[in-house]
Amino acid sequence: MKKGKLIYEGKAKKVYETENPDLLIQEFKDDATAFDATKRGTIREKGVCNNKISAQLFKLLESKGIPTHLVELLSDREMLVKRLDIVPVEVTIRNIVAGGMAKLLGLDEGIELKVPVLEFHYKSDALHDPLINEYHIFALDLAQEKEIKAITQYSFEINGILQKFFDHVGLKLVDFKLEFGRHKDKILLGDEISPDTCRLWDKDTNKKLDKDRFRRDLGNIEEAYQEVAKRVLS
Ligand code: 5GP
Repeated sequence: MKKGKLIYEGKAKKVYETENPDLLIQEFKDDATAFDATKRGTIREKGVCNNKISAQLFKLLESKGIPTHLVELLSDREMLVKRLDIVPVEVTIRNIVAGGMAKLLGLDEGIELKVPVLEFHYKSDALHDPLINEYHIFALDLAQEKEIKAITQYSFEINGILQKFFDHVGLKLVDFKLEFGRHKDKILLGDEISPDTCRLWDKDTNKKLDKDRFRRDLGNIEEAYQEVAKRVLS
C-alpha cells in the first residue's frame, strides 16, 4: 500500500491517505511533547516501539472481540488503519491513582482503586482536554447514546484484557487513554496504545516505564520504551 497525501500531522504521528479511500497509513514519529506541547523533545526509536507495541495490543484486542482500526503492520514505523471519524471524546481508565486524578483530588500516587474509574475528556488541546460527563456529551451532541454505551463497554473490556496481559509480562497498568471513531456506522478503537498513552509500572519495583519519564525528567527514557517493547513483543 503506497503513501498518498499527508492529511494530518499530530504530536506523535503523521497520517497519510492511500489509494483506498477507506484506509490510511499511520506513521509513528520519535517526537515527544508534554503539557500541551510546552515541553518538546525526541525519544530515539519511540516511533518504532509504539508502532509495534500498538499493533501487538490491537491484535490481542481483536482476538478478544474488540473492533480496532488496525488492518496490518506495514513497516517499523507504519501501520495500515481504517479511516475513522474520530469521536471528540477521549476515554481514560484508571486502576491506580496517578497524574491527573492525583492532582484533581489531592491524592497520593499509587493508591489502588477499589473499582476502575472511567473518565471522559473533551478532545481539545486548546482547552487542555477538560473532564466532562455524559450530560455534556449528549447536550453538545459529541456522540450518540448508543455510541457512548459501546465505548464504555469496550473500554472496561479493554482494561480487563490489558491488565491481564501486562500482568503476565510483569507490568502494572496504572491508567491509559483511548480514542474511538466511527467507520461505516460502527465504533472502532483508534489511535494507539503505547507507553505514550498508558502509565505502566514494573510489577516488582514500581519503576515507571512510560512517558512520565519524559514528562518528569526521570532519565533512561529510551530504555523504558525498549523495555516495554521487549516485554510486549516477547
Ligand atoms: P492524566 O489524566 O493522568 O494526565 O492521564 C491519564 C492517562 O491517559 C495517562 O496514561 C496518560 O498517558 C494518558 N493520556 C491522557 N491524555 C493524554 C494525551 O492527550 N496524550 C497522551 N499521549 N496520553 C494521554
